[in-house]
Amino acid sequence: MKRFLYYCPECKKVTLMTLVKEDKDTNTVFLKCVVCSSSGAKKAAAEKSEHEELPAKPKIREYSPKESYKVGDSLYHKVFKDTGEVIKITKRFNGQIINTVLFPTAGVKKLITFSGDK
Ligand SMILES: [Zn+2]
Repeated sequence: MKRFLYYCPECKKVTLMTLVKEDKDTNTVFLKCVVCSSSGAKKAAAEKSEHEELPAKPKIREYSPKESYKVGDSLYHKVFKDTGEVIKITKRFNGQIINTVLFPTAGVKKLITFSGDK
């Protein structure tokens, strides 16, 4: 099943979406929010040629507090036994970085990493 991270107008945040239908005439995909089941979201389908030649999945890294991540990174968390996608990064003044990660089964988790600055 195709999944997307996309802004849900109902949840008012970026959530995990599943593909409901693809309209090739208008080049639009219709998405259903896995959180609230709203199917109101739709987005322009990706330009075909370029997108499909990209690797299907970004490289998955295992979560470690010493690593640094960016939005869109996929990371595997061995406690949750789940691979999630980084949807938001918040830096704290004390050098901690809060990585908000959306896991398909475990849900939204906040994982802390350290920037290495003392
Ligand atoms: Zn929603």
